[in-house]
Amino acid sequence: MSDAIENLYSEERKFPPPEKFALEANAQVGIHERAAAAPLEFWSEEAKKLHWRTPWKKLLNDSDAPFYKWFEGGRLNVTESCLDRHVVSNPNRIAFHWEGEPGDTSSLTYKELLEEVCRCAGALRQMGVGKGDTVAIYMGMVPEITVAMLACARIGAAHSVVFGGFSAESLRDRLDDASCKAVITQDGSWRRGKVVPLKENVDAALIDQQTVQSVLVLQRCENNVEWNNSRDHWWHEIVPSQSDFLEAEEMDAEDILFILYTSGSTGKPKGIVHTCGGYLTGVSSTFKSVFDIKDSDLYWCTADCGWVTGHSYIVYGPLANGATSLIYEGTPDFPNQGRWWDLISKYAVTILYTAPTAIRTFMKWGEQIPTSRDLSSLRLLGSVGEPINPEAWMWYHEFIGGNRCPIVDTWWQTETGSIMISPLPGITTTKPGSAAIPYPGIDVAVVDEEGQEVPPGHGGLLVIKSPWPSMLRGIHGDPDRYRDVYWSRFDGLYFPGDGCKLDDESYLWLLGRVDDVMLVSGHNISTTEVESALVDHSSVAEAAVVGRKDSTTGQAIAAFVVLKGTIEGCDSLIQELRLHVAAKIGPIAKPASIVFTPDLPKTRSGKIMRRLLRDISEKRKLGDVTTLANSDIVEAIRDGSVKSSED
Ligand code: ATP
Ligand code: MG
Repeated sequence: MSDAIENLYSEERKFPPPEKFALEANAQVGIHERAAAAPLEFWSEEAKKLHWRTPWKKLLNDSDAPFYKWFEGGRLNVTESCLDRHVVSNPNRIAFHWEGEPGDTSSLTYKELLEEVCRCAGALRQMGVGKGDTVAIYMGMVPEITVAMLACARIGAAHSVVFGGFSAESLRDRLDDASCKAVITQDGSWRRGKVVPLKENVDAALIDQQTVQSVLVLQRCENNVEWNNSRDHWWHEIVPSQSDFLEAEEMDAEDILFILYTSGSTGKPKGIVHTCGGYLTGVSSTFKSVFDIKDSDLYWCTADCGWVTGHSYIVYGPLANGATSLIYEGTPDFPNQGRWWDLISKYAVTILYTAPTAIRTFMKWGEQIPTSRDLSSLRLLGSVGEPINPEAWMWYHEFIGGNRCPIVDTWWQTETGSIMISPLPGITTTKPGSAAIPYPGIDVAVVDEEGQEVPPGHGGLLVIKSPWPSMLRGIHGDPDRYRDVYWSRFDGLYFPGDGCKLDDESYLWLLGRVDDVMLVSGHNISTTEVESALVDHSSVAEAAVVGRKDSTTGQAIAAFVVLKGTIEGCDSLIQELRLHVAAKIGPIAKPASIVFTPDLPKTRSGKIMRRLLRDISEKRKLGDVTTLANSDIVEAIRDGSVKSSED
C-alpha cells in the first residue's frame, strides 16, 4: 500500500534561534517537556494567569466526548483579563495605534479602550441586547471593531464578526444562521480610496430578515446612507453619552464568547463556536510564548478581524497580555506598494504576523520595495493561513527580516482557536517551510488511513490526540456535523482535514488539505510539495496545482503559475518549470499542464481555492463562489484568456 501522502520535498536549511533572542525569550527550554509530562497541569497554570472571579471546579470534563468542557464552574468575563486589570496596573499604556487608509491616525490607551468598550456596551444594552444574544459585526478595520467585539463580551452577548468584504447575501446567510439580534456596522469603509457601502449591504441583507431588531452605525466615510428610524442608531448619537464604566457580566467558562464562520476554502462555511475560559487561556498563552511579547514591543498582525487570526491575535491574545499593537485599515498597495513597509518604519514595528499570500504578492512586486525602507526595528516574523513555501520563507527571512529575525510558521484553524503547531522563537531551530513542533500541551500525530502513526520520513494525515482548552465547542446549531466533520474519521482523534509529514527529526510539514491530495499513478502527492517546487524556480512568485482526471494516470497534475514582476510566460518556460519540478521532487510530480495567470482564485482571507481550479480543469460547472475574492480571474482562466499549454 502506498503512503497516505508521499514525502517528496527535502529541505536542508536550518536556522537556530539567535543567541541573544534565545537568552531573553519568554519561553525557555524545558517548557515542551514540562507540558508533555503533565499537560493538564500546564493548562491549569496558563489559565491561572487570567482574571477569574470564581476558580473552576473541574479542569476538563470529557464524559460526553467529543463535547468536551474546560474549566467547569469557573466564572469570569474575558474583558476583565483583557482590559480592567491593565487599567489598574498601567492605564496609559497604548493598546492600539491605528492608521486609517487615507492616513488619519489615532491611538487608544487601555484606559480609553475600556471606557469606550463600556460606553458601547451601554449602547447595546439600550438597544435591547443582553446576555445570550448574538450580535453581528460587519465593519472595516477601524478601532471601533475591537470596541464592538469587546462590548459584546462585556455584556455576555456572543459576537459573530462577518468580514466587511462579504456581500449582502453572505451577510444575510450568517445573520440567519446565528439568529443575530443586532448588527454593528459603518456607513462605509475605505478600500483602495473607494467607499465599500457597508450600511447599504446591511440594509439589503435585512430585507424581510426576521431576527435583527437594531443596527448600530459608526460614521466613517460620511457617504450617504438610507435610514430606518425605528431600527438604526448612529454610534456618535448613542455611544458617547453612555457611562464610561459598566460592570462586566459574569460568565461561565463554558458560555459562548463568539461564533465565527470559517473562510470557506473547502465549501460552505461552518459557524464555529468558542467559549470564554478555554479560548482565552489558549490565545493568551500562545500569544505570549510564540510572539515573545515584551513591554517594549510594537506588534502588528495584518489580518482582518473578520477571520480567526484577527480574533485571537489582534484582539484577545494581545489584550490579555497587555500588548501594544498596530491596526491598519487599508490594503498593502494603497496608495502604493510600499505602504506596509512605510508603516513598519513609521511605528517601529518589532513583530510582524502575516500570511503567505501576502508574502508571495510582495515577491511578485519585487524586493526593491521593502529593501528601500528601514525595517531594522523588526525582531520577529510570523506566518499563518497556508503552508509557506520554503522559497517564500527564505524571501521573508532575507528581505523583511534582514536575516536576523526568527520566523514562527504557525499552524492552526478557526476550529482550534489558538496556535497548535509552531516553533517557539527562542527555543526551536526553524526549517523553511516547516511549522516545526506542537505547542506545549498540544498532542498531535501524523497517521495513515487506518489511524496508525507513521514513522519519521513519511507523510499522512494530521490528527490531534487530546482535547485542548481553546478547541471549538461545536458548529452552531449542528452537533451532528461537528461530530461528523472532526471526530468520525478516527475514533477519539480530532481530524483537522490537513495532510502533514514528519521529517527524520520529527518536524511537522503541513501539506495542505487532504481533499486536495492528487493521486497520480498510484502515488498520493500533496499540492503543497509541487507548489513549493514551482515557487522554488526563480521566475515564479506563486503557484497552485490540482489533480484533474486522466485516463492513463488516474489524475494528472494541472498547474497554475503566477510569475514574478514583468516576466512573461512562454513555452520554453513551461518546459523549464516541468523539468525543475522533476529535478526538485521527482518526475512523478511533473505537472502535465501549466497555465500562466496574473492571479489565483482566493478566498477573501487570501487562501488559494483549489476546488475551483479543479472544476475549471475538469470543465465542470463552478461550485460555490460566494466566498471568492477575485471571481474575474476564474472566468479569465476558464475562458482561456490567460496563456495556457497542454502537454
Ligand atoms: P473552510 O474550513 O471553510 O474550508 P478554512 O479552513 O480555509 O475554511 P481557516 O480556519 O481560516 O478556514 O483556515 C484553517 C486552515 O488553514 C488549516 O486547516 C490549514 O489548512 C491552513 N493553515 C493555516 N495555517 C497554516 C500553516 N501555518 N501552515 C499550513 N497550513 C495552514
Ligand atoms: Mg477549515
